[in-house]
Amino acid sequence: MTRMASAGALLALCLAALPTLASDVPARMSQGGLVTATVPVGSTATVNGKPVRVGNDGMLVLGAGRDEKGPITVVVTRPDGQRDTTRIVVAPRAWPVERVNGVPPKTVNPPPDIAARIQRENAEVAAARKRDDDREGFARGFIWPVVGRISGRFGSQRIFNGTPKSPHPGMDIAVPQGTPVKAPADGIVTFAKPDLYLTGGTVLIDHGFGLSSNFLHLSRLDVSVGQHVRQGDVIGAAGMTGRATGPHVHWGFNWFEVRLDPMLLPGIEGTSPH
Ligand SMILES: [Zn+2]
Repeated sequence: MTRMASAGALLALCLAALPTLASDVPARMSQGGLVTATVPVGSTATVNGKPVRVGNDGMLVLGAGRDEKGPITVVVTRPDGQRDTTRIVVAPRAWPVERVNGVPPKTVNPPPDIAARIQRENAEVAAARKRDDDREGFARGFIWPVVGRISGRFGSQRIFNGTPKSPHPGMDIAVPQGTPVKAPADGIVTFAKPDLYLTGGTVLIDHGFGLSSNFLHLSRLDVSVGQHVRQGDVIGAAGMTGRATGPHVHWGFNWFEVRLDPMLLPGIEGTSPH
């Protein structure tokens, strides 16, 4: 062995033996963005004062909503009691206005007798998003669930048939009816129903650490609750069930109840679904 090689081997040995001493929580993120960071193993952490999961490997996850102004305060308490505080600056984004006409009127202003049903369905979906376990289905990055034209962006201010509605909570990709929809990352199916009033065929996949994908307006569901899926597995088929004007896949992404922009996910950002 040469002296150089043995020095290199020694260095590698030293590095391998060193525990992670520093957190890599970033100083800056975007509205709608996701942060996955590593903190010293055995630490505890809070985000804006709320305890969050730290994985056995030091994984820490957080997201910034569409209207998050920041800064987001992350406090990591190491096993020896020492505290690291990061105040993440949240970069604002400009949100476009999307006017959509020809939406079925009964889905824009649902009749009163439907309101209770919508409320019940929203509550069921919200309950599925409370799950928090240490699977890291998101750690390998994400793939596009379908290939097509982006027909609606996350966060845009939508006006349906002239009526202003809440911002678009996900991304729409226009594809032909029946196009297979793939799981963008490993996970467990936490919700699967074919006929919600607004979102039609609806599937939620939990990727761990409170991160979940939702797919809406599906014409067919190929998975059921509790099923483990791998990245690339077909979970259903695209359609236009619920409030939709044409066949497309709506991909929403959450950190618990906070809605994030799928376009900013690792593996998706900077790539195109074509
Ligand atoms: Zn949509």
